Amino acid sequence: MTDPIQPLEGLVTFDNTYARLPDGFFVPWRAEPASRPQLLKLNESLAAELGFDPDVLAAAAAEVFSGNIVPRGAEPIAQAYAGHQFGGFSPQLGDGRALLLGEVKDQQGRRLDVQLKGSGRTPFSRGGDGKAAIGPVLREYLVAEAMHALGVPTTRALAAVATGDPVYRETALPGAVLTRVASSHLRVGTFQFFAARDQRDHVEQLMHYAIDRHDPQAADSENPALALLAGVVERQALLVSRWMLLGFVHGVMNTDNSTISGETIDYGPCAFMESYDPASVYSSIDHGGRYAFGNQPKIALWNLARLAETLIPLIDSDEERAVARAKETLDGFPEAYVREQLRGSRAKLGLRTETEGDAELFQGLLELLEAAGADYTNSMRALARAAEGDTAALRSRVETNERAESLASDWITAWQARLSKEPEATSAGDRIRSVNPLYVPRNEKVEDALRAAEEGDLTPFDRLLERTTAPFERVEGFDDLTEPASPESPPYRTFCGT
Ligand code: AMP
Ligand code: MG
Repeated sequence: MTDPIQPLEGLVTFDNTYARLPDGFFVPWRAEPASRPQLLKLNESLAAELGFDPDVLAAAAAEVFSGNIVPRGAEPIAQAYAGHQFGGFSPQLGDGRALLLGEVKDQQGRRLDVQLKGSGRTPFSRGGDGKAAIGPVLREYLVAEAMHALGVPTTRALAAVATGDPVYRETALPGAVLTRVASSHLRVGTFQFFAARDQRDHVEQLMHYAIDRHDPQAADSENPALALLAGVVERQALLVSRWMLLGFVHGVMNTDNSTISGETIDYGPCAFMESYDPASVYSSIDHGGRYAFGNQPKIALWNLARLAETLIPLIDSDEERAVARAKETLDGFPEAYVREQLRGSRAKLGLRTETEGDAELFQGLLELLEAAGADYTNSMRALARAAEGDTAALRSRVETNERAESLASDWITAWQARLSKEPEATSAGDRIRSVNPLYVPRNEKVEDALRAAEEGDLTPFDRLLERTTAPFERVEGFDDLTEPASPESPPYRTFCGT
């Protein structure tokens, strides 16, 4: 291992603006050394976008992305945050197994965080070991990159490195570190951390920092706190509408996993729904179904209300007036959500024009899928052929019982009538194919790929990654990846013990 005191030269220009915030926002820290770091995956196109020097990277990727060596300009820190977890408030969470190295600028000049996850204990680790196992690291790598390819705002995966050290869960597992790239790691819980301690000046500093990173125009607003809140409301509404349109269940929408940037973060117990059911829950610890698929918009708004609470003193010195203005801003959520949802549902149905009744038409399709217990992704994709006149594939997916059969004929008739009013109805099939994916990271396929990876074979993982990062384009020889789990499989469960 290279001497850890010597910074690595020439990789990329790092900065760390967060490390210039006052004490209390973070703790400077070092990664636990990895004994035999080995590069599992490197996202070369993302590395290039971020301006990483390919030669330096080729020589040092495993050392850098395990945390063994620190690039020049990076200042590893563990960030402080709090959070509501399943509704209960924890005043201190923080980076218990992550370190923010700093920020780099991408080719468009956007400042992005680079963070190691699984790099060992920090002062925020509480009872945890600060580590991550290969399976969950590769899972986050895969799902984050798939989400990006699906057009969902998300943190990205830059690298996965096996540490060569064991991680103890139910059994000993190979340890790994994920390098995550994000517009920032600011969370609703970051604001809560200081608000819960009555550190109003810190909340204010955080607000300015967040505005600088995400809503620069809010700095000149008549009310910057309110303008920031409005920005987060808008981004979260867009984000959750994208999840809902894809059948994605995040699984752990705690306020510490709710970003100010509006990016999806933390792919722990997430899943893509197969049979359409708004009550779908995959997380083994979500007993009450708080984070069920259909609850996600409501929960996002609940989280935003927690953010608003922290900003009240900055919105107006008159509390009553501040609360009224915050509420008004939060009312922007349902408005933005409905707008994005409608825009997205029209696209999924192949519609380019807007007609009264489009929302109900989409709702009718969801009711049909639910009655049929049909696979969400495949049924949506089957609309493409159906728009071109061949409804057989769609029918075979949704006509699974008598009620569904009758709903299906009514729905298909109504949709075809609506499509026929489109000026360019002939291209509807291709438009549908460009938004309704063929390949999503299906739960069982992901598990199979991770199992092989844990045994040292990355071939199935690479195969799945390749298709799910070009999800709209059919490629011969990959039909197995589009198959839902067989009805005989036990219900899919995901585990937070990552
Ligand atoms: P998460 O469920 O991953 O969003 O994490 C919630 C909190 O638990 C955060 O403060 C994490 O840093 C912390 N945490 C999760 N796993 C570990 C671990 N293995 N060791 C230490 N802290 C952890
Ligand atoms: Mg988290």
